[in-house]
Order: sequence, then C-alpha cells, then structure tokens
Amino acid sequence: MKVAVIGIGVAGAYLMNQLSSLHDVKVTGFERMEEKNHDAVCAWATCDNVMNEYSKRCGLDFENYVLHDGKRMTVDIGKGNGSDGDGDGNSSMNINLKGMVSYDKLKLIQDMIKGTNIIFNKVPEKNQLEQDFDLIVDSTGFHRHYLPKLKDELWIPCIQYKVKYDKNVPFDDFYLKAFPSLSGYFWYFPLDNGYAHIGSGDFRRKHTNEFLEFFLKKYNCTIIKKVGRPVRITPPSKCIPFNDGRKTIGVGESIGTVYPLLGEGIIPSTICADIFINNMDNLDNYYHEILTKFKIYTLVYKFIKMKISNNFSVFKNFFDLIKIYNHMKMQENRYGMEVNILDMLKLTKI
Ligand SMILES: Cc1cc2nc3c(=O)[nH]c(=O)nc-3n(C[C@H](O)[C@H](O)[C@H](O)COP(=O)(O)OP(=O)(O)OC[C@H]3O[C@@H](n4cnc5c(N)ncnc54)[C@H](O)[C@@H]3O)c2cc1C
Repeated sequence: MKVAVIGIGVAGAYLMNQLSSLHDVKVTGFERMEEKNHDAVCAWATCDNVMNEYSKRCGLDFENYVLHDGKRMTVDIGKGNGSDGDGDGNSSMNINLKGMVSYDKLKLIQDMIKGTNIIFNKVPEKNQLEQDFDLIVDSTGFHRHYLPKLKDELWIPCIQYKVKYDKNVPFDDFYLKAFPSLSGYFWYFPLDNGYAHIGSGDFRRKHTNEFLEFFLKKYNCTIIKKVGRPVRITPPSKCIPFNDGRKTIGVGESIGTVYPLLGEGIIPSTICADIFINNMDNLDNYYHEILTKFKIYTLVYKFIKMKISNNFSVFKNFFDLIKIYNHMKMQENRYGMEVNILDMLKLTKI
C-alpha cells in the first residue's frame, strides 16, 4: 500500500515513524516548509505521563526533550489588563502540576522522522497524489488543505513570541492569564536557560495585542521569533467529513483533535494518529473510534461557545460543567494537573 502523509507536525511525524516500520506499507511524507526552516509553531507544553509512552513506541526517550518540568501553574483571573498580570495572588490561583512540561517539540518531531522518506518544501497537487498513492493522509493541521472546507467553524487566532530573558525571568513556572468570558488566554511557558514562549489567543482578538504589549513592556526581553497561527477548537464531531469520499483522510487538528478548553492539541493529535494506524484498513472503525474517544470535546466546545457568547446559564448548563470537571478530575495524570472544582468555578466565573 502506498501512503502519502501531508504535513509533518506532531501527527504527521508520529505517522511517518510508525508507518515506515510496516512491511506492507510504503510511506512518503510531504511538508510545505523547507527542511532547514522546519518549525513546530506551538507553545510546546504537554504532559510527560502521556508523551513518555508515545515517544517510547517511536524508540525515543521523552525525558531527553523536556525543557522545563512544571510544579505549579499560576492562573490570573483578574479583570484588569496589566494590573493583575503579575500573579501576585490578589486575583490568581495556583494549580499544582502533575506532569506538565515544556519540551523541544521540533527536536522530537525531527527525531521521529529520522530515516523516513520526506519531501520538504512541497505542497503536492491533489490530482498527482491520487495518481501516485493508494491513501492520502491530510495531517496539515489547521489548514485541512486536502479535505472539504467546514462551514460552521470556531478557531482562536493566536500570536506567540519566543523570547529570552537575560536577567530576571518574570515567573519561574507556568503562568496563564484568562480573558473575560473564557474567550482565550495569555500564556507564559518557560523553556530552558531564560527562554520562554509567551503568547495569546483570543476569540475576540481584543485582548491579544493589549496584554502581549503590556507584558513585553513590563518584562524586558529579547524577541527571538514572532509567529501567528489560529488553533481550531471545532471538535471532531463537527469536523465531519474526515475524508473526501476518494482517497484522502484527515488525522490530527485537521479533524479537530484539540481540547477546546485549553487549546491543547499535541496529545490529542498523537492519539488520533495512533487510532488511525490501528484502523487504516477500516474507515468506519476510524470514524467510530475517533468520535468515541473525543466525545467529551463536543460538550466542552458547546460550553466554550456559550461562555464566549454570554449564553451560559448556571441553572441550565451546570451539569455540563460538572461532566467536564469529572472528565478532567478522572484524568489528572493525562492533563498533567490537579483539577479542583473550586478552581474550575472561579475560572469560569460562576
Ligand atoms: C500559538 C499556538 C500555541 C499552541 N500551544 C500548544 C501547546 O502548548 N500544547 C498543545 O498541546 N497544543 C498547543 N497548540 C495546538 C497544537 O500546536 C496543535 O493542535 C497540534 O500541533 C496539531 O498537530 P497536527 O500534527 O495535527 O498539526 P500541526 O502540528 O499544525 O502540523 C501541520 C503541518 O502541516 C504542514 N502543512 C500545512 N499545510 C500543508 C500543505 N498544504 N502541504 C504540506 N504541508 C502542509 C505545516 O507546515 C505543519 O508542519 C498550540 C497552537 C497554537 C496555534
């Protein structure tokens, strides 16, 4: 079977690694970036309890990629723009972390694809792909380049800087500032040696620039890189079809595997790629497993949408919130943090 994997992000790299070892599969990867500029646009936070296992399957030790091992995340829920931004405790809460780390995402991707057959700097034509391959995987993330466009989509525009602090770092651990109505948040994720990713995503676009500018002014740093990219938070149930009725099938963020409450897509997209490998020969099973595995994402998405549009009602939707809380509470090791109902109520301003 000849398989093309288009888009070498987390999902594509995992697929390349795993499919290359199958005897009856000949896999070719395509990536639009040049090899020397290959990047992984993302804040690079994940949970090592889960990534350990998937890295091991690729013959790699995840601990070698960890840049910062989180102990505590400060979440600022204050109303003000800058005044509460220092996590001084007036309007902030501390969440104990259980495995949340920042890691060198690009290096892990590069090591996963070592020795596999990838053509960089190439956006292949669909017609050509259909002539040359039996199966085409669209792992182009947000772009969903080879799949039918979706009508009712929700995505959060984000801006992120990689920065370096020469003297004092603003925080020694993970920091978030939640924007009103859960329309997004600002993040400060430490990397190593004074480097950090600071970024902001806001559905309303209002707070992103404001808070980023405030933060950049307040804490003197050298800007290494600036990127902008949206993150899809439409869940898999609303990213149907996953295929185009011919040879193309979506894997990863292209079919909505991003946890909408956090904008977290590394683990879900890796899980999605793994589910795909186990169901390559049966598309119905693939649909079924993805929709089952990510069922809760539909509820979380509905909740976020209601909060953003100020339609959330404590009376009508309280049980939805409890379901989401239960889901995360039962999977603290998966999310890499302690989950506490009071924090959740505070965060959601209930
Ligand atoms: C600013 C930002 C910060 C984030 N931070 C985090 C975080 O800290 N933790 C977390 O878990 N998630 C985070 N996410 C979400 C996460 O990055 C994604 O959900 C995840 O990487 C999706 O993986 P993927 O492999 O499906 O797609 P991607 O990782 O987006 O990879 C897609 C690849 O396809 C390539 N491509 C696109 N179009 C084409 C084409 N036509 N032809 C060839 N190649 C193409 C791209 O260049 C890219 O390499 C963040 C997202 C953003 C935008």
